[in-house]
Amino acid sequence: MLLVLLGAPGAGKGTQADILTDRKGLAHVSSGDLLRLHRQQKTELGQLAQSYMDRGDLVPDDLVIRMVLDKLSEETDGPGVVLDGFPRTAPQAEALDEALGGNEIDKVLHVKVPEDELVRRLSNRYICRGCSRPYTAESMGRPCEFCGGELYQREDDMPEAVRNRLQVYSAQTYPLIDYYKGKGKLVEVNGLQDVDAVTGDVLQALKD
Ligand code: ADP
Ligand code: ZN
Repeated sequence: MLLVLLGAPGAGKGTQADILTDRKGLAHVSSGDLLRLHRQQKTELGQLAQSYMDRGDLVPDDLVIRMVLDKLSEETDGPGVVLDGFPRTAPQAEALDEALGGNEIDKVLHVKVPEDELVRRLSNRYICRGCSRPYTAESMGRPCEFCGGELYQREDDMPEAVRNRLQVYSAQTYPLIDYYKGKGKLVEVNGLQDVDAVTGDVLQALKD
């Protein structure tokens, strides 16, 4: 099974992807997490990606496409993959289709959240360095309850970068909704509900 989670920054894609990993055994492939890992490990890709990411700009397509397609080619054993944060541009979506050949994407779930709520969530978001799970400001100073990792505010969750990411999303990623609608793959999910209700809708969409 190949699922794609589409949605603005802060829509809750990563949270739902983690839940799908627990419940369905799907491998969670997050382009953002892969890029942050490259940065931590100071690889060439990580160093190239750094300035784009901190400004909230997209990392160039050729770099991201290669990174994600390599990862996907390693994930062929399990029941499937949930892609989170990729594709984010038309060239990425086309490269993915091409790489899949006859094997198609099963569903593209668009997790929809209004912009004022996204800004509120992102500016109050703190992330575990170990496992990337999100927390809020109230948890700062305490370790992650899952892995004991340290919580920090991502550079790109600062206000200016947040505004830029939302603009980049509207301009570059939002058009993919029509692209997948045209292919009959798109399912809309209301991301403004609590986490469990969103999960319920996601699981329902997978059955339909
Ligand atoms: P969010 O969805 O909250 O913006 P991510 O962790 O998915 O966060 O992405 C963080 C940053 O990593 C993006 O702002 C961008 O710079 C880079 N990035 C992640 N995925 C892609 C992608 N598919 N194409 C280009 N850049 C990406
Ligand atoms: Zn953690």
